[in-house]
Amino acid sequence: MLYSFLLALLAFVLFLVARAVYFSRRIAVEPIDNPLPVNVLDAAHRLGKVIQFKTISQQRVADIDGDEFRNMHSWLEDTFPLVHQKLEKEVINEFSLLYKWGGEKSKKKPIMLTCHLDVVPVEPGTEDDWEYPPFDGKVTDEHIYGRGTMDVQSGVMAILEAVEHLLERGFEPDRTIYLGFGHDEEIDGEFGASEISRILESRGVELEYLLDEGLPVVDELIEGIKSPVALVAVAEKGFLSVELTVESEGGHSSVPQGKTAIAILSEAISRLENNPMPAKFDGLIKSTLTSLCAVVPYSLRLFVANLWLFKGAIKRVLSNIPTTNATLRTTTATTIFESGMKDNLIPTVAKSVVNFRIHPNDSVDSVLKHVKRTIENDKVQIRALNGYIDPSSVSDMKSDSFRQLRISIRQIFPNVCVSPTLMTGATDARHYTNLTSNIYRFSPLRAAHDDIDRVHGTNERISIENYGEMIQFYAQVIQNSAGSGD
Ligand SMILES: [Zn+2]
Repeated sequence: MLYSFLLALLAFVLFLVARAVYFSRRIAVEPIDNPLPVNVLDAAHRLGKVIQFKTISQQRVADIDGDEFRNMHSWLEDTFPLVHQKLEKEVINEFSLLYKWGGEKSKKKPIMLTCHLDVVPVEPGTEDDWEYPPFDGKVTDEHIYGRGTMDVQSGVMAILEAVEHLLERGFEPDRTIYLGFGHDEEIDGEFGASEISRILESRGVELEYLLDEGLPVVDELIEGIKSPVALVAVAEKGFLSVELTVESEGGHSSVPQGKTAIAILSEAISRLENNPMPAKFDGLIKSTLTSLCAVVPYSLRLFVANLWLFKGAIKRVLSNIPTTNATLRTTTATTIFESGMKDNLIPTVAKSVVNFRIHPNDSVDSVLKHVKRTIENDKVQIRALNGYIDPSSVSDMKSDSFRQLRISIRQIFPNVCVSPTLMTGATDARHYTNLTSNIYRFSPLRAAHDDIDRVHGTNERISIENYGEMIQFYAQVIQNSAGSGD
């Protein structure tokens, strides 16, 4: 009896190990043998030059300096002559750019590459913390410094460099390629990407896929991981801010009458924060974990390969880490609380705003229902603020386009592990969901831990070597998707 039990146990352990070995297999991808002949140093100086245009997105549209965008447009025209001879260019809403490249007779659906021309301002008071002024575009021996070198003029420029060099080589795409560069991504993309998308839809354009800026190639995603991870976001969270208002009697603080507005509102907020929407261990997080199986430390591999057995434990661990928790559930964050003005006066009104980032398995509606159910108090008025948006759908991870993207990434970054994941922030990609259900958000940027803070922060920079990889990456994406052949 004991013998057969041990045998069964052994068989079970072998089964778990076999799964770990199976999921750790990686398909070998040969690095490319004919990279574009790009002089990376010259390209770095061109990137440095584009950084000097202060295409800053301001909260008030009236504060945007249109001349900076117009000057950038004409500089791009001079810098990429073939792009501007061979592609059709349209200026959308004065400052955004849309290019169309070839493929008129092709039966294949077009593809689209997108990034944005605008950058965030430099936080006042931090200018002197920069090693080089943020709009000088300084090129050092190793890096290009400046606002936009990561987010994301490097993307715009790398795409244009790739196209210019492919044109020099005589490359003709066998399907239409659109390039879309919005001008207001940092302030929601309402006039840029949104308008580009509306125009393409009105022309009946349906895309095979769209590749937008997104997550980077992360050096050490978790401690002990064996190789960098290229995070490709196949979905994007939604956004909802809910205003909570409580009105009460008020009066003098020496004679309080029951609970104050502040107390009622505090209780409501505390209930919301203590009862977040449940974590979802869905197909996407499973795909993320499975894709990492080959590179996570051996100690974790057995667990990751056998999610059917360990998913409860893994869910608990991931829920306790803020970054992974945000990929598992709709998050709740109280961002505004306003009430009271004098220490001896009970206020008649207390107001608060709670911000939700909505997981693709939830919706604006389901979050609002959750808020009402959780607060369960008629004295709290609940109102959704304008600007809410449902989460995106999850793009197909088994599509040809995703497979091709995975290959393009591994051809340029041979040792990386490509991992599909969820984008917790927002990009212009959300404006293009009417054109295709295959939307991928990825930036071919290498990012070590201390680089993440440089995005929208101080000393934003990219290495010259990585910038060269970016150019080769976009060239590879274009050739793999629109080269003659399949
Ligand atoms: Zn960006």
